[in-house]
Parts: sequence; C-alpha cells; structure tokens
Amino acid sequence: MANLQVVPIPAFEDNYLWLLVRGEKAVVVDPGDAAPVLDYLAQHRLELCAILCTHHHSDHVGGILRLVQHFDVPVYGPTHEAIPGRTHPVAEGDQVKIPELGLEFSVIDVPGHTAGHVAYYGAERLFCGDTLFACGCGRLFEGTPAMMYASISKLARLPDATLMYCAHEYTLDNIRFAKKVEPDNADLIQREAHDRATRAQHLPTVPTTMALEKRTNPFMRSLEPTVIQAAERYVGHALSDPVEVFGTVRAWKDDQD
Ligand code: ZN
Ligand code: FE
Repeated sequence: MANLQVVPIPAFEDNYLWLLVRGEKAVVVDPGDAAPVLDYLAQHRLELCAILCTHHHSDHVGGILRLVQHFDVPVYGPTHEAIPGRTHPVAEGDQVKIPELGLEFSVIDVPGHTAGHVAYYGAERLFCGDTLFACGCGRLFEGTPAMMYASISKLARLPDATLMYCAHEYTLDNIRFAKKVEPDNADLIQREAHDRATRAQHLPTVPTTMALEKRTNPFMRSLEPTVIQAAERYVGHALSDPVEVFGTVRAWKDDQD
C-alpha cells in the first residue's frame, strides 16, 4: 500500500480540515466546509471513503451534507451529539475501520469542550478536534474542569510518539499564554522559537507529538510544581488537587482571550 499522507486543508480563520490520503482514496476529519475539501479531492483525483467528526460545532460539521451529496460515504460521529448526516454513531471503545485506506481507529470519549466530544486514535495518530490543541486546550463550553482534566489525562496515556492533529492553528497564541504560566520552561522557549519560524513561513505547527505537549502544554502539566505555584499565585490561595490546578489555568487563559 502507498504511504499514508495527512494533509491540512485550511478553512475559515484558523481551522484545519485534516485529509488522510492513501493512493487515490481519502478520509476527511471534521469537514466544517465542503468547498475546499471538494476542490482538493478534484485537483488530486481522490475518492472520499469516509467522514470522521469529533463534535457538533459548525466549523467541524458544516460541510458534511454537501460532501455526502458528492460521495455516498459513512459518516462517523459522537453518539451523544447531533451530527448532520451521521450514519455511524460512535463512543469510547468503538473501532472505526476504513479498509480502503487500510486504517483502523479507536474511539476515545473526551468530553469537556462539548459534552459528547470524541477523538480518533489510529496509525500512531490522534485526531482530537477541539479537546487538546498544540500547547493549549479547548474552552469548556459544555463540560466541567473535572471532565476535561479526565479527558486530557486519557490522551496523555497514549504513546509519546503519537502525532496529535488538532483542528485549529492556535499555537503561537497558546505559547504566549503558556509562557505566563511557565516563563522558565526551557522546552517551551525552544518551542516558541521553532513554531514562530514555522508560522513565519506560513506553515502549520500541527501535528505535534504527545511528548512535546507533555513538556510544554500547561493543560497537561497540572502535577508540575511550577504550574501549581503559578495557578496558586493567580487565584491567591492554595490548590489541593490537579483538577483545581487545571480549572484555574483554564479560567486564567479565558481571562486573557
Ligand atoms: Zn469546537
Ligand atoms: Fe472548532
């Protein structure tokens, strides 16, 4: 089989619609818009074989109905959310098989950004929508800090080499905030230089690796003394558990936006 390629299709302000391509077959993750996906497929003479969705926000599902008019394909999406055109509801522990590309994904429930958000893990890659971002995490629109902390902790148990594909290019903004939490984190300072150079060339900073996220993403570091101390300074009192640390750092970031 040909090598798997993962192509970012930019959409809206800062979304990436991820297209997985092998030979002449493709799968799209979170097609918020159909037009750029259809253009790419036509230009490269690719046949769409499946659609994967992580959560119900329109910038992730807005293109589904138009895509299925062109390609009669299965649409996988979270069981507990309303996903237009969904044919295959999925939840924790389900497997998604895409034989045309020789791919198989495990579904992971990651509530927090939305109540039914799922992620897809397969081929050493994680497609996590708006749960984890490069050096950041999604806002808690429908979930609690405890839910999101548990979701991110689950993702942290994936292998360090896992390539993480989030749905937005928020990295430099996230790094700016992360430096407020951990100004002396050497890995973070190095990451900033690297990702600034990447963006200066208009290239995506995504994918990133789970290993790099664990070293630099403040939302994956609620057990680190530096992060605990920064969160305590921000709220002005002691914090007794990692969920409180996580929730405080999330609220702190919300205040900056
Ligand atoms: Zn979202
Ligand atoms: Fe989004």
